[in-house]
Amino acid sequence: MQTLKYLAGYPEHVRERVRTLLAEDRIAPMLRERYGASHAIRTDRQLYEYVVAMKERHLRQAVPLHKVVYDRRLQVMQHALGLHTSVSRVQGHRLKASREIRIDAVFIDAPADFLRMIVVHELAHLREPDHTRAFYQLCSHIEPDYHRLEFDLRLYLTLRDLPRDA
Ligand SMILES: [Zn+2]
Repeated sequence: MQTLKYLAGYPEHVRERVRTLLAEDRIAPMLRERYGASHAIRTDRQLYEYVVAMKERHLRQAVPLHKVVYDRRLQVMQHALGLHTSVSRVQGHRLKASREIRIDAVFIDAPADFLRMIVVHELAHLREPDHTRAFYQLCSHIEPDYHRLEFDLRLYLTLRDLPRDA
């Protein structure tokens, strides 16, 4: 039986439904139909500009970002879909927090909607450090489809991990 690690936080009846859809090979066509479009954000510089533009639009007041990169060493699950690091530096007399965002390199080739979703997730952490109710409310405020996108991303990652036929 599939353990479905990316869906561990969902109720068993949801996982059971996903197992059925997987067994019937219905998830890949469904994701292809919903998320055909890829994106052209392939370099760290492009990613930085994309993330900063979204921050300007939605979270202008949050702490500045000093670095945004694709990280090829990340394990998506280890960091609950992303890695957010708070770097504190002493500048003059004040302690100023500046932040970096690392996006798993999986997203370079993922559909554009999933990249947007993970960037929303990471930006929301600038204001809400933990995965609280307030955190998800902020995500949904920035991206009204957030919950569906996160669920479908988990399906996408689940498919990606399946052993492929030769
Ligand atoms: Zn998170």
